[in-house]
Amino acid sequence: PPPPGPRPIRRLQESVINRIAAGEIIHRPASALKELIENSLDAGATSIKITVKDGGMKLLQIQDNGSGIRKDDLPILAERFTTSKLSTFSDLKRLTTYGFRGEALASISYVSNLTVVTKTKTDTCAWKAVYADGALVPVKPGTSKDPKPCAGNDGTTITVENLFYNTPTRLSALRGSSEEYTRILDVVTKYAVHNPHVSFTCKKVGTPSPDVSTPSSSTTVQAIQLLYGQTLAKELLNVSVSSDKGKGKGKARATSPIQLSDDDNDEDAEAWNAEAHFTNANYQAKKMVLLLFINHRLVESSRIKKALEAAYNGVLAKGASPFVYLSLHIDPRSVDVNVHPTKKEVHFLNEDAIIERIADAMQEALIGQSHSRTFEYQT
Ligand code: ADP
Ligand code: MG
Repeated sequence: PPPPGPRPIRRLQESVINRIAAGEIIHRPASALKELIENSLDAGATSIKITVKDGGMKLLQIQDNGSGIRKDDLPILAERFTTSKLSTFSDLKRLTTYGFRGEALASISYVSNLTVVTKTKTDTCAWKAVYADGALVPVKPGTSKDPKPCAGNDGTTITVENLFYNTPTRLSALRGSSEEYTRILDVVTKYAVHNPHVSFTCKKVGTPSPDVSTPSSSTTVQAIQLLYGQTLAKELLNVSVSSDKGKGKGKARATSPIQLSDDDNDEDAEAWNAEAHFTNANYQAKKMVLLLFINHRLVESSRIKKALEAAYNGVLAKGASPFVYLSLHIDPRSVDVNVHPTKKEVHFLNEDAIIERIADAMQEALIGQSHSRTFEYQT
């Protein structure tokens, strides 16, 4: 038979476009939660309380004590590409917030029932707004779409219900609620380690005690100890490494945030520093636990993971794996955060050289530690 002629090209409906885009950003309850935690941190919250029902599929609620959202902004809050964090393309290169695209709340509103209750310090009451498909919908059927005044504390509470109710394939691709809850706890735990000055709690609806609970002013090591246990924490080594030449790599010293200059051609765009807390030869896990933060973003990188694993060659027995928390600060001008829809990958300049420096410093510390251990045994 003759081949069929070309089919006509048609424009997709806006609602279809948006639901497809939402699917790229929100894969599962834990990815929605990651976006919401990042929003709370961007809003300066020092307390983040998470409540979950049915692995986050029935309910995912996050309450923060951050800046709140101005009432006037509520009508466009869940529209795609509405953000308070970026205005020009060049802002991307000095980005200090997690968010920048204004896509998270929009995406969530396309695949769930989204409710926002928020209060700024200057508001006299809180405001409640309900969203569907990027727009306000009435809080109660038959009433207007306007946000309604209600009681509430300073900050924002976001409630996501019935996630993926309208995308059945996505829903059926999810694991059971206990596996989804495990992933949620993993995200909360990692952000809690990286933000020891913020109090995190996470619990299931109807259970009295939280599964994660951290105080609001601890240190990274205290947070690791609290969340991963004393057995692991007592075997931790620590190195700080930076691009500063001549200051001795791998020597423990305070890491300071990178000073940003206004001059875009400044050589300092190459400046970086890193802090790592990692287990020594006495600790053996079955699978590597890697908490990798690049400019405070929780990211994944198989290249970095391999390089870090290699640092343990000859230190750990075959089949044994370490715990590594690595926080890398790079001048935002040399990082591209816009390479992955979930922002879980970033690209940066001199990646290989930087990673090598860090892995070398870790290896030096590990070898030094195993030498001193041998030495101890000999005396
Ligand atoms: P982005 O974070 O990329 O700006 P989002 O869709 O995640 O996009 O959020 C849109 C906007 O809503 C943010 O820019 C911010 O102004 C506001 N917002 C969202 N969550 C919060 C929150 N928890 N507290 C204060 N403001 C928030
Ligand atoms: Mg965001």
